[in-house]
Amino acid sequence: MLDSLLRLLRKLATFVGSPRRDAPANIRRDFPTGWLPWVEALPFYQGLDEEEKKHLLSITCVIVDNKIWSGMDGFDVTDEVKVTIAAQAALPLLRIEHQFYRGVDEILIHPTTYKVSTRNIGPGGVVVEGKTEVLGTAHSDINIVVLSWQSARQGGTNWEDGRNVVIHEFAHKLDMLDDYVDGTPPINCRDQYAAWVRIMTKEYEKLVSMDKKGKKTVLSKYGATNPAEFFAVSTEAFFEKPRQIRKKHPELYEQLRAYFNQDPAARLDH
Ligand SMILES: [Zn+2]
Repeated sequence: MLDSLLRLLRKLATFVGSPRRDAPANIRRDFPTGWLPWVEALPFYQGLDEEEKKHLLSITCVIVDNKIWSGMDGFDVTDEVKVTIAAQAALPLLRIEHQFYRGVDEILIHPTTYKVSTRNIGPGGVVVEGKTEVLGTAHSDINIVVLSWQSARQGGTNWEDGRNVVIHEFAHKLDMLDDYVDGTPPINCRDQYAAWVRIMTKEYEKLVSMDKKGKKTVLSKYGATNPAEFFAVSTEAFFEKPRQIRKKHPELYEQLRAYFNQDPAARLDH
């Protein structure tokens, strides 16, 4: 009873927009050995060097311990679920300054894909409302990420299809750190920022054009939805299909390499 009351209070605090400050994100502990097989089941982990592996496990542990994890539709959020998701979310943070996704207090997990309400304004101003099946959602107004466990596990274990819902949704959260959902995360260096805006705009427009012409692309066409989706889709592909991105979109690759301070294509070369 007390537990559920505390939980309700924490949830209310989240919804009125006050970030949870009671659990400092720097409390660390040794990575439990029983969790290791779940991280080792993620193919990207084997490509990391020893120092990166250690760092990834440490970030994973902090995310598992400091976020609120909630199951939807009766789903039981086990340690395996938390670790599998947190380890994937940890990868983009590996070599950047970060605060363990300060814009995420809670991670809600559905067992499989789920439906969200949509509202589109069509020709003549007609409002069309409906429901769409999705794999994940990153809210900009509340500090929550929603994921389908089935999709998160599949995205983590299939490391070559360029699709990874965990990296996608958490990339949105990096983008949102400056309170703008525009496909540009905070970049402090002025020259790097200018290059980012120039290249990302050019690459986004190229994808929109390819999409309109019905041409095949390495990047998912969902990235042509808007610049925010372009960043999330590019980030998924950067980590999952780095060599194809480096070959087909060298300038885009270079921007992501500079921002994340990682070279996943070079990891595969080795
Ligand atoms: Zn998205």
